Amino acid sequence: MRLVLLGPPGAGKGTQAAIIAEAHDIPHVATGDIFRANVQQETALGTEAKAYMDRGELVPDDVVIGMVQDRLTEDDAADGFLLDGFPRTVPQAEAFEVWLQERDWPLDAVIRFVAPEEELIARLESRREIEGRSDDDSEVIRKRLVEYRSKTEPLEDFYEERGLLRDVEAVGEIEEVGRRTLDMLASLERA
Ligand code: AMP
Repeated sequence: MRLVLLGPPGAGKGTQAAIIAEAHDIPHVATGDIFRANVQQETALGTEAKAYMDRGELVPDDVVIGMVQDRLTEDDAADGFLLDGFPRTVPQAEAFEVWLQERDWPLDAVIRFVAPEEELIARLESRREIEGRSDDDSEVIRKRLVEYRSKTEPLEDFYEERGLLRDVEAVGEIEEVGRRTLDMLASLERA
């Protein structure tokens, strides 16, 4: 399946992505993880991305789009993929749509994880303590949520209009949310 995960920071996308990718045997492509790996390896891409990431801002569209297209042309993505953290803006989604059409690679679903704002902030604060991510401090967390609301939320309408949006309640135990997501995907496959 070709899937996109949507949902604000802290909604549990990364955790759920791992569950879905394993169950469907597709690569989990997380743009944030790719950026963090590049920052760690001090590549040119990493240096460019780091300044934006540390401020809680989005990396420019052209940088991200090129990076994702390169990743998805690797062999393991030929039969499907799960995108986590991309697209994040309408221009990214538009460019991606054209690129997918050129390949005759329609998306199967865009999964939106839904959780209340207080829950998101609480999860991000606790992740900071566990993982020590430099963009999980309170100011940056707030900035990332604002970025999400202003730039990424419009994608919900974009994919709703295309009949692709599927909501999953992201509250509860990890396994329970995972089960809900896999059940939803199974019902799509049966349809
Ligand atoms: P994430 O791990 O998905 O929360 O991403 C961490 C950071 O990487 C974000 O706050 C952005 O700075 C950057 N990033 C990840 N994906 C994208 C994207 N699709 N567009 C722009 N910036 C991104």
